[in-house]
Amino acid sequence: MTAPLAATQPDDVASAAIERRPLERYVAPAKPSLVGLSRAALAEALGVAGVPDRQRRMRVHQIWRWLYVRGAQDFDEMTTLSKDLRSELAQRFTLARPEIAAEQVSVDGTRKWLIRLPGEVAGQPHEVECVYIPETDRGTLCISSQVGCTLNCSFCHTGTQRLVRNLTPGEIVGQVVLARDRLADWTQPSPASGGGKGGGGEGDKRLISNVVMMGMGEPLYNFEAVRDGLGVVADGEGLSISKRRITLSTSGVVPNIARAGTEIGVMLAVSLHAVTDELRNELVPLNRKYPLRELLDACRNYPGLSNARRITFEYVMLKGVNDSLADARALVRLVKGIPAKINLIPFNPWPGSKYECSDWEQIEKFSEVIFNAGYASPVRAPRGRDILAACGQLKSATEKLSARERLALRAMAMTD
Ligand code: SAH
Ligand code: SF4
Repeated sequence: MTAPLAATQPDDVASAAIERRPLERYVAPAKPSLVGLSRAALAEALGVAGVPDRQRRMRVHQIWRWLYVRGAQDFDEMTTLSKDLRSELAQRFTLARPEIAAEQVSVDGTRKWLIRLPGEVAGQPHEVECVYIPETDRGTLCISSQVGCTLNCSFCHTGTQRLVRNLTPGEIVGQVVLARDRLADWTQPSPASGGGKGGGGEGDKRLISNVVMMGMGEPLYNFEAVRDGLGVVADGEGLSISKRRITLSTSGVVPNIARAGTEIGVMLAVSLHAVTDELRNELVPLNRKYPLRELLDACRNYPGLSNARRITFEYVMLKGVNDSLADARALVRLVKGIPAKINLIPFNPWPGSKYECSDWEQIEKFSEVIFNAGYASPVRAPRGRDILAACGQLKSATEKLSARERLALRAMAMTD
């Protein structure tokens, strides 16, 4: 089940204009993959394969470690399972990850994968992008929650993509698994471990230490799949990326913010980008449905919020649009009383975009106002710009703008 989309309500005229694209349906492969199932779903699958009730817990435990500590890609690697069980499983299931359609490596080490998912519409495959960003003290994987996005923020490339569907929990977890495959980021067998043990615990140094759900899509419009998928990613006996190291970014789906706190429990980032409803309506049209006051109230009441668990407010720096020092002061007033960090994101241009990034001096001055008011105000260094992997530049290769669309966007920019 996916969170109901208000866009599908025929009587909701205002929201239909905001969330304008229909969702495509997921087409399940004939032989399903075990990758990404929750423990309960995995136990159920084992039941289908004839594993008796009393053995299921133990088998789930074993398979879980093979899948998420060792990154097994073949049932035959699972040497703690009997040969019979392995072949029984192989007849019914796979360990398939989403397929990599293309890989690009930036001069700064950022890697972007174009990922092909099952399903196509009019010959067009369902695709998402996933980006790995290495830093000195951590490695962050940016994952997607939807093919495209039903919203259309005016500065975001993903929002221009026509095709939209929700990812399954398996496809969400699959991005992390696939990135660990490509980066050889699994625990290697130790001679004494006998195969199924080792790794996943404290002191285990992995390249991917953090996950941000800041790729394609609006995660809170795919609530259940995101909750279940991130539950698997955070599981301490498997992929083991703790909830403190997972950040979910939302454009402000107010009714699901409290649920995200209680049911998902990861760190929250909110795409603010403007300090008045008038401007936010234009930049993030969802604001017309959930205006600033409601959004900030939801943030103030975010379950588990504390000085150690702050909300990150994201603010894209658009030259001459939202980057005045008066804006910076208003921003500080707006978030007053909320344990917060403010993350300034230099605007990343994309073909046909109608904005420019603020000048560097202006970003620095803006950041200073915020810093002087007592907030951390890091400026997000653009990464992987040369391969269009930076924030908001993601868009599947098959969905590049046509020449006519580019012209239309340019014309819009001129009349604005
Ligand atoms: N849909 C979610 C998460 C994906 S977008 C959301 O909107 O929050 C991740 C972040 O990148 C958001 O803060 C988004 O506003 C920002 N972003 C989108 N397009 C951008 C662009 N062209 N330049 C810089 N940041 C952008
Ligand atoms: Fe969707 Fe987020 Fe892009 Fe807005 S910024 S169009 S919500 S992906």
